[in-house]
Amino acid sequence: MEFPKINLHTHTLFSDGKNSIKQIVNKSIKLGLNYLAITDHFTNSWKAGVISTTLNTVEKIDHYLNEITECQEFLTLNNKNLKLYKGIEVDIGSSRAYIKRLIRPTEFDLILFEYLETPEGIAFVKNIIDQWKKTIVFNRSFPLFGLAHFDPSNFIYGSLNILMQFLKEYDIYVEFNSSYPQFYSWRNELFFKKLKEYNIMVTIGSDAHTSRDLDNMFNPLEMIKVYKLENNLEIFINHLKQKT
Ligand SMILES: [Zn+2]
Repeated sequence: MEFPKINLHTHTLFSDGKNSIKQIVNKSIKLGLNYLAITDHFTNSWKAGVISTTLNTVEKIDHYLNEITECQEFLTLNNKNLKLYKGIEVDIGSSRAYIKRLIRPTEFDLILFEYLETPEGIAFVKNIIDQWKKTIVFNRSFPLFGLAHFDPSNFIYGSLNILMQFLKEYDIYVEFNSSYPQFYSWRNELFFKKLKEYNIMVTIGSDAHTSRDLDNMFNPLEMIKVYKLENNLEIFINHLKQKT
């Protein structure tokens, strides 16, 4: 079957990307993308010291969200065949207090978690989502949660069932990220079999840091087909469509 062109992991000048949101959107229109998310970095771990900047104040996050809104309005007004989503990539090495203070989850369509590598990491993410669910009326504006460039090899020999139950219970999707093809390689086949068995949603991102890397989606889509996860991708796309 024919899938839409999806890239739900990109960076801009609001973190360590080289282009503005507008430039990323314009290039995506030219490339014929159908779904695009801007997912700039959020962190106060060691990572904050090594990347140029992050979404580190309420004012900056508001500015970021407003720029995306402007682009969404532009796309609607001009009848473009591109849906744009508000995302953020949260480093789970960040402190809980920092996440709680700055992120208002209902402002986002997608929240990616990066560096989930241990059962302790699962507990951390569960805790964050549980906190959010408690403080917020659960409605359609609650974001979709996903794992950015997830490395299954950390879980494949031991805690795979804990991981799968977590993904199922919290409705978390797994990203096929073309910048990290080693993570969806054949040696992690068992993990992808489990995704199918548990019906976990999957999607595609390129982790673009420049507008040149926006359409690197061929390999992830091929691998989704190899692992027979087309249906998992379709379920994800249907969830995404409800966001617009
Ligand atoms: Zn990223």
